[in-house]
Amino acid sequence: RQEVYRELRKKPSVTKDGVQVDLLMNAGLAVDLPQLAEAGAAGIGLFRTELQFMVASTFPRAEAQEKLYRDVLDAARGKPVTFRTIDIGGDKVLPYFKGAIQEENPALGWRAIRLTLDRPGLLRTQIRALLKACGGRELKLMLPMVTELGEIAQAREIIDREVRHLSRFAHHLPTSLKLGAMLEVPSLLFQLDDLMKAVDFVSVGSNDLFQFVMAVDRGNTQLSNRFDTLSAPFLRVLKQIADAGVRNHTPVTLCGELAGKPISAMALIGLGYRSISMSPASIGPVKAMLTELPLEELEAFFADNLMAPAHGLPMRALLQAFADDR
Ligand code: PEP
Ligand code: MG
Repeated sequence: RQEVYRELRKKPSVTKDGVQVDLLMNAGLAVDLPQLAEAGAAGIGLFRTELQFMVASTFPRAEAQEKLYRDVLDAARGKPVTFRTIDIGGDKVLPYFKGAIQEENPALGWRAIRLTLDRPGLLRTQIRALLKACGGRELKLMLPMVTELGEIAQAREIIDREVRHLSRFAHHLPTSLKLGAMLEVPSLLFQLDDLMKAVDFVSVGSNDLFQFVMAVDRGNTQLSNRFDTLSAPFLRVLKQIADAGVRNHTPVTLCGELAGKPISAMALIGLGYRSISMSPASIGPVKAMLTELPLEELEAFFADNLMAPAHGLPMRALLQAFADDR
């Protein structure tokens, strides 16, 4: 198998009928970087910047942040990298963060963009480090756990202020800055067109989105087999997002665990996703599926079954049957 995957690295990332799908990898630490070449990823679709904070015993200094971001971009050698601003809080606690509070529902609590907008010094330092590290290159930045569009506007103000500050001091700025939002909170599903217009790209965080759509704690093993990520309602949600991206000419990608399992990656591609990001070990198996996938047939399958699954069968069973038949 490993040999097969290695061979596949040289092959174009296209379906059997020639449609390109970018397979990117998730990363978060410098040790992940060699995987970029080893796995044959098209880039880093999700760089979890909070990992540097989680392995440290105090807040990483601005210089250390900048160095990591620069190393990541250097290792990517021009392949796209999407940095996510720190996603701490919830289950990702920093023992040295004195401002942390006890919460009854941490997943619904003071975390991610909510926390960093309330502690803008953290965000400003990180954004400045990113802007400096990306001098002369493109900066792709995304915000975790966005709930309201106002949060994007607030973050944009902070970014703009840092850009003005650095340009006043004649710093080498990024050639372009693309700002994206992670779609993880269902409130955004009811304002998809406005969301798509407010950002340069959207990245679906399917781990959190599934948790919040189904009201199921993502870490609770008692519940982990109860609800299916390939159930019709969740797939319809994912399709609405992909359609809104096409309608608004806003690139949409997905970077949760769903992207890394061949059967679910197949479903995502059938629903319209043309860029997905996963753990590096999944790239080989997903690419093996991709190159064998007759996409037109899968699109026809979804047109027939997504709103009315054949024989009332679970979508997973139908998708499995589709895959087995081919
Ligand atoms: C997600 O929620 O799907 C995601 C990619 O972010 P994380 O797993 O880091 O919460
Ligand atoms: Mg998430």
